[in-house]
Amino acid sequence: MRPTRVVVVGAGVAGLSSAVAVLEQLPHCSVTVISDSFSPDTTGDVAAGLWEPFLVGNSNEKDILKWAKGTWDQFHQWFQSGEEWGVRMVPGHTFSDSPSQIPSWSNIPAQFLEYSMSECQQISPCYVFGYSFTTWVAQPSIFLPKLKAIVEEKGGKIINRRLKSLDEAAPDADVVVNCSGIGARVLVPDLSVVPVRGQVVRVRAPWVTSFLIDESKSTHAYIIPNTDCVVLGGTLDEGEWDLTVNADTARQILKRCCELDPSLKDAEVLGSAVGLRPYRKAGVRLEEDVVMTSGRAVPVIHNYGHSGCGVTLMWGCARDVASRVATLVMKAAL
Ligand SMILES: Cc1cc2nc3c(=O)[nH]c(=O)nc-3n(C[C@H](O)[C@H](O)[C@H](O)COP(=O)(O)OP(=O)(O)OC[C@H]3O[C@@H](n4cnc5c(N)ncnc54)[C@H](O)[C@@H]3O)c2cc1C
Repeated sequence: MRPTRVVVVGAGVAGLSSAVAVLEQLPHCSVTVISDSFSPDTTGDVAAGLWEPFLVGNSNEKDILKWAKGTWDQFHQWFQSGEEWGVRMVPGHTFSDSPSQIPSWSNIPAQFLEYSMSECQQISPCYVFGYSFTTWVAQPSIFLPKLKAIVEEKGGKIINRRLKSLDEAAPDADVVVNCSGIGARVLVPDLSVVPVRGQVVRVRAPWVTSFLIDESKSTHAYIIPNTDCVVLGGTLDEGEWDLTVNADTARQILKRCCELDPSLKDAEVLGSAVGLRPYRKAGVRLEEDVVMTSGRAVPVIHNYGHSGCGVTLMWGCARDVASRVATLVMKAAL
């Protein structure tokens, strides 16, 4: 019997984790990844890599918690492997100038603690809400090349190609897994996927070992240490497609982050980057569909629209994708 042919579209965090999960869970499948960009040029390469469900639209909360927990456990496993996956535990704080609720995911990370109003105001008189927790930070520019290498080691094929529509992926596929991020807007086409542009500045500041997030609407900023740099952010520009770095914005990010942590004024600036978060008001789309090719209906599993937390959700979603491929294989004896 020939192996089930799975074609994964996209080589970002969603695509490569899905490809590895399918190869691990279903070793009898052949996997091909088709993508027109790879690390270091994917959205994840711009991300700060903080594990925190954020900007998830109207996603089902139970799903978000399940996917986020799945990724949490996978990061733990990578960390314990002793290999350099670019994953480490980082403590930190989030503050805001408007009252809010404790997030629904608060029991997943370690040491989650809500601050009282007076504790918040010791940090800044504008803060009225805040909490601290310890979480994983996973640097995609380190783990994405490793995931790509695993796909190849396990016999998967990688093809560098731009697709005009999803059916172009289908002729040699029994199942298509669509992990095209913002590209889903054209590929599916799904016009509900919109970019939320994010610009960051990377600096060398090894003395910064905790994260700090200001969630206030007018002063939104974050400082997130990665393995080899500190990521300073950021912007949340809905509907903006421009991938070029705006020098003025970079200066403002630096200024705001130096106000939050004045030690950053001594940091060496390494560069800036821009990425487009694939935002969907309805939330993450992880569900089955079909695409027609030469009169044949090929099952599609969509896995896109992870918006501001694609790193946080990637492994839980990838496992879900692999389980859905397994069910399709069983049902149709593909
Ligand atoms: C500034 C910023 C900070 C962020 N910080 C965090 C964070 O701290 N924590 C967190 O969890 N998340 C964070 N995110 C969000 C996270 O980066 C994204 O949710 C995630 O990277 C999306 O991954 P993806 O694989 O779905 O999309 P992408 O990385 O965009 O990958 C899509 C892939 O599909 C391919 N593709 C698309 N269209 C086509 C086509 N027509 N033909 C062929 N290939 C195609 C592309 O080439 C690409 O390889 C941040 C994002 C930004 C921009």
